[in-house]
Amino acid sequence: MIVFTEPKVYLIARPSLVEGGLSGFLAEAGHILKNKAPESPADAVAEVGGRVCYCSFGKLFENTSKFLAHAQKLGHGSIFEHPAFTFGVARCSRGYTHQQVRHRAGFAYSQESTHYIKYSKETARFYVDKYAFARGKELWEKNLGAVIEAYEMAFKVLKDSGDIDRHNCSGAARQLLPQALESKILVSANVRAIRHLVEDRCNRHNTLEIRLVATQVLEIMKVEAPASFQDMDLFVDEDGEKSAKSGKVKL
Ligand SMILES: Cc1cc2nc3c(=O)[nH]c(=O)nc-3n(C[C@H](O)[C@H](O)[C@H](O)COP(=O)(O)OP(=O)(O)OC[C@H]3O[C@@H](n4cnc5c(N)ncnc54)[C@H](O)[C@@H]3O)c2cc1C
Repeated sequence: MIVFTEPKVYLIARPSLVEGGLSGFLAEAGHILKNKAPESPADAVAEVGGRVCYCSFGKLFENTSKFLAHAQKLGHGSIFEHPAFTFGVARCSRGYTHQQVRHRAGFAYSQESTHYIKYSKETARFYVDKYAFARGKELWEKNLGAVIEAYEMAFKVLKDSGDIDRHNCSGAARQLLPQALESKILVSANVRAIRHLVEDRCNRHNTLEIRLVATQVLEIMKVEAPASFQDMDLFVDEDGEKSAKSGKVKL
């Protein structure tokens, strides 16, 4: 049994620019690409989305950061729906994944199934809040261990009865599994949706776990799409954990 106290966000996929395709598209509008694309394909694609509206391709990539800041100020949010990213979140609980999947617009999910996986005391992985774990490590380990034992016992009783399919045994036994059980999840989202997740979740009003996920997501996005997230910054909040402050632009 392993107990984690910090979820871990992995960036798995990011957009990339197809320069030949972009110059072909610009040529359709009578333009040639004069400026070097910014390092971030996500920022670049958002700018292309904005420029197509006004056919202002002559200025494409002159100053992506300024262009996107202006779009954010105007609330021109749909251009941030073009670039999308995929994250793998591990070491996180099923409690967190329940919260995460409430974010629907612009998101896609694939989540570990408790129906198809057989858990055991040796291999089970859990997430427990670090402050709670520090104050009662033995209590958590003892009770999580007991729950998994009960689950294994229920699975065995059902399986030994002989007339229940293996998957239905785990499907029934899983009713005993706790919210602390680790449930890996693949999360894909466009930049507009990611911005909303950070605004909603990276603050003191949330449980620490989803806030830590949103914090790691923002740290990744500040590198991956600096112009699209230029108005959002992390700071150490009163409780000693990080929160995000933004220019409060609702896109
Ligand atoms: C501190 C906190 C406490 C919470 N507590 C609870 C709780 O106790 N119980 C509970 O059930 N939930 C709770 N939630 C979840 C919350 O109600 C939202 O479901 C969740 O944060 C997802 O955000 P969203 O609705 O903005 O959805 P997203 O899918 O992220 O949507 C983004 C935006 O798109 C628009 N949108 C999305 N779907 C629709 C739609 N169908 N119709 C119109 N516009 C839409 C809205 O503008 C929305 O803000 C809590 C959230 C927070 C941050």
